[in-house]
Amino acid sequence: MSAEQRYPVLQLWVDGQWIDAKERPAGRDVVNPATGVVLGRLPYATPADLAAALQGAERALGTWRRVPAYERAVLIRKAAWLLRERVEYIATALSLEQGKPLSEARAEILTAADIFEWNADEGRRAYGRVVPARTAGQQNTVVKEPIGVVAAFAPWNFPAATAARKISASLAAGCSCIIKPAEETPATALELARALADAGLPDGVLNVVFGVPHEVSEGLLASPVVRKVSFTGSTAVGLRLMEMAARDAKRCTMELGGHAPVIVCDDVDPQWAAEQAAAAKFRNSGQVCVAPTRFFVQDGIFEAFLAAFVKAAEALRVGNGLDAATQMGPLSNPRRLQAMAELTGDAVDKGARLHTGGGQVGDAGFFWAPTVLSHVPDHARMMNEEPFGPLAIINPFTDLDQAFAAANRLPYGLAAYAHTHDARRVQQISEHVRSGAIGINTYAITQTEVPFGGVLHSGDGKEGGIEGLDGYLATKVIMHLP
Ligand code: NAD
Repeated sequence: MSAEQRYPVLQLWVDGQWIDAKERPAGRDVVNPATGVVLGRLPYATPADLAAALQGAERALGTWRRVPAYERAVLIRKAAWLLRERVEYIATALSLEQGKPLSEARAEILTAADIFEWNADEGRRAYGRVVPARTAGQQNTVVKEPIGVVAAFAPWNFPAATAARKISASLAAGCSCIIKPAEETPATALELARALADAGLPDGVLNVVFGVPHEVSEGLLASPVVRKVSFTGSTAVGLRLMEMAARDAKRCTMELGGHAPVIVCDDVDPQWAAEQAAAAKFRNSGQVCVAPTRFFVQDGIFEAFLAAFVKAAEALRVGNGLDAATQMGPLSNPRRLQAMAELTGDAVDKGARLHTGGGQVGDAGFFWAPTVLSHVPDHARMMNEEPFGPLAIINPFTDLDQAFAAANRLPYGLAAYAHTHDARRVQQISEHVRSGAIGINTYAITQTEVPFGGVLHSGDGKEGGIEGLDGYLATKVIMHLP
């Protein structure tokens, strides 16, 4: 049996019922971005399915919130182990539907298992406190309660990790959840749900639905049952969801776009910095919200850095994610391919220098060559819009104040990076660059135990770390005078 034949059957999971495409005429085909071959048919939820999911989630909340946090954690941990046991199967499905190399897909499934466990145990540590009272004999207690039913929306670039964050934080906090994963990459989230189902999750605690994105989000957010919205995706969509949520004072966690600057100072080895930078830039074909995008390199090492970066980009093996030699897969959908062509053409028209790449690779699938441009002017679209693809922008700078102004020029603030070994520069960069996270001599800034989330138009709220469950908990004060 070929890998494609082993791609899972696509379903909805509504209040404990698995519903497949035969039962729902509306839907879409899911396509392998490396080949263009149809992998399966995804059923879309009807309005009645959404109503059933809301009803099921509301009912299940009543019992799930009373399950002791320890028992909830045992169940979520069991699901994490099932993910580990099934890693080859799920990673293959992920690579098939999303395009990333199998090794990266495996790592992502293991990360999802890790996130499940972290959040499970954070649920056990959702501590309250006792506040000294002003009246003798009174007790003031602060407790944390599940906020209610969660509507979650996960994207296609990290279909396991992003969905795992939202699902496990909801469940560990005692909330029920309705998730709409991206329609491009449905199988991965369905396999997370299957692991939880097999671990014994009661019906209705988690529901997985698909459909026309805005119809599903508008349908769910219109319901007073939903008390929390968790979204990862573009800033434009996130802002729309926040507006809808505000009408009913629903809590939001928003992980939105970024356009991460990288300040490369002249005290580092340009070859070493360029190799690190290129590996980070082209991971998942640049379709990463924390991808380094705007490299600002100090004059003295600019030419050497650029040359080494171009060499690293040209050495990358681009191909089907299931091929063990592949280092960079295709883009996930044709929208990104079109965006790469438009952004590159616009920058070159406006005076940018194209050093390598700049075109599609092959005529099957959605491959775009690793692309490096320099001297890109501020008014080029790619300097302002998140590229979300394998485009690297490398511009020179003279002094750090200039680099800070360039780094902070955009209304984003998700991730930023720097290369320097100078302690004074480390301090200045940490202080002056506006971002939810800063990586200095490292690009590994998203780890389960570290809070993740941006500022400004990059979003609000944190996932992971000891902050990760906050968005799913309501604080209640009980003041008792016996
Ligand atoms: P998009 O904004 O149409 O979709 C992004 C995600 O949001 C998808 O998963 C989609 O299903 C979902 N979505 C879209 N409209 C929605 C709605 N009204 N309600 C609920 N969910 C909705 O963009 P796209 O073409 O898929 O990707 C393009 C841009 O999205 C990228 O350039 C990037 O800026 C952003 N993006 C960001 C992330 C991230 O991790 N922050 C992930 C994927 C895409």
